[in-house]
Amino acid sequence: MTDRIGIHWFRLDLRLNDNPALYELSKEVDKIIPIYIYEENIEIGHASKCWLEKSLECLDNELAKLDSKLYVFKGNSKKIIHRIIEDKNISHFSWNRLYDKYSIIRDKEIKSSLNKKSIVCNTFNGYLLSEPWEVKNKSGNFFKVFTPFWKTNFEILINKKLSLSSSSKYNFYKKNINSVLKIKELQLNMPKKEWMNRILSYWDIGENAAKLKLKKFINNKLFNYSTGRDRPDSDFTSKISPHLHYGEISPLRIFNEVMKSNIDENNKKKYLSEIGWRDFSYNLLFNYPAMTEFPIQSKFKKFPWLRDKKNLHTWKLGKTGIPIVDAGMKELYEMGWMHNRVRMIVGSFLTKNLLIHWKEGERWFFDTLVDADIGSNSAGWQWIAGSGADASPYFRIFNPILQGKKFDPKGQYVKKFLPSLDKIPEKFIHSPWEMTDGEQERYNFILGRDYPKPIIDLNETRKRALAAFKKISE
Ligand SMILES: Cc1cc2nc3c(=O)[nH]c(=O)nc-3n(C[C@H](O)[C@H](O)[C@H](O)COP(=O)(O)OP(=O)(O)OC[C@H]3O[C@@H](n4cnc5c(N)ncnc54)[C@H](O)[C@@H]3O)c2cc1C
Repeated sequence: MTDRIGIHWFRLDLRLNDNPALYELSKEVDKIIPIYIYEENIEIGHASKCWLEKSLECLDNELAKLDSKLYVFKGNSKKIIHRIIEDKNISHFSWNRLYDKYSIIRDKEIKSSLNKKSIVCNTFNGYLLSEPWEVKNKSGNFFKVFTPFWKTNFEILINKKLSLSSSSKYNFYKKNINSVLKIKELQLNMPKKEWMNRILSYWDIGENAAKLKLKKFINNKLFNYSTGRDRPDSDFTSKISPHLHYGEISPLRIFNEVMKSNIDENNKKKYLSEIGWRDFSYNLLFNYPAMTEFPIQSKFKKFPWLRDKKNLHTWKLGKTGIPIVDAGMKELYEMGWMHNRVRMIVGSFLTKNLLIHWKEGERWFFDTLVDADIGSNSAGWQWIAGSGADASPYFRIFNPILQGKKFDPKGQYVKKFLPSLDKIPEKFIHSPWEMTDGEQERYNFILGRDYPKPIIDLNETRKRALAAFKKISE
């Protein structure tokens, strides 16, 4: 009897364990062909590409331990899949679902053409705690506000039987397949190599690293998450976002491990609710597929954004003269990651003080974050700009000086990324322009020489933003 062969198509689920589609496929077939297709027309930022290359290499190494490899292709998914199934005798096909508009349409087409060829195609949830259509209010509609969304989602999760699967019994394919590429041939880490290598130096990538990171986070940081999470000057968040984005770890594993840890309920619940924000972002993306381009609140279509290339560029470089904003932008370029509190501060500064369109910020984040994610990034930017479904109200304009004083009181975060501020006293660390000429001389720190003068007046621009908002609200 010939072997039944199935294909598992890896996308944002670059792991062997807790992978529902892979696990279910393994029960149906004798051998699994693990494939990855790099579609060039799907936009991926520079920082994400360099993460992706390493993550694919890690998966390939794990498959090599099971005497197989990752079969990597480049091009149009539909065409490539058809070529493989023509060539091999495939009975089953599987993947974990994605929720953006492009993927949904593409996947539907591929599934229907596989079914026409009598290939069994099964798809699963491997990316979210709950899928957007599972979490509905009493009238059967989707939630537009986070708190009731999470309450309902949490109840679903508590009552769900959460099974985690292991890769130990998988039987992967071993022979050659035509037009398979080496991962390096995808050329993901080609341009800007120096920058990419610097980013990579901060991260351990892959499924094993993600699991270890979760374990260390639960053991060493979760006990202080609820208060520590807002402090960029300390290290109390999990930094698990890029691992979650590429599916090196499943959110259900995180949910399980956190729930069974013996940390107090307050910290556990706070952390899980942040993972809930990720689900909420996908709930929004699924229900407002155009939110990647257009404001969810339509009144923002007529918002008088400024096209100010110079200020945008200065913001990207971290040279605005506002320390906590600049430190955040430097952290982003240095590590491919930025603390959540600071993401909100730099986002508020761009959209409200500089009146620059949130889409510009979203694009820059998309290019430079290793966790750049179509759901969380567009939801985060719409939230901070005030145009989202459950957005921060427009009139809530973060004051970067007060934010700095509250969340980085000694200026340790700011100094880490802006060493030229090292010599000035704590009192001025978040507002160096308040130093008199005499004080600047005393500390051998000259504003405009050692650090830029602020590019805008925070009070004036705050008033300008409120006036602009009033206009679209009339
Ligand atoms: C303007 C803006 C843009 C953002 N862009 C992204 C993005 O592209 N990708 C991304 O993963 N997150 C994004 N976030 C959310 C958040 O900043 C990051 O998820 C978080 O900083 C990642 O660090 P961590 O893993 O240490 O978080 P932790 O505090 O340890 O949280 C654990 C996990 O919960 C999820 N999470 C936490 N906060 C949020 C949130 N507000 N929205 C959605 N998920 C959340 C993440 O998966 C995170 O890894 C954005 C936030 C803002 C304000």
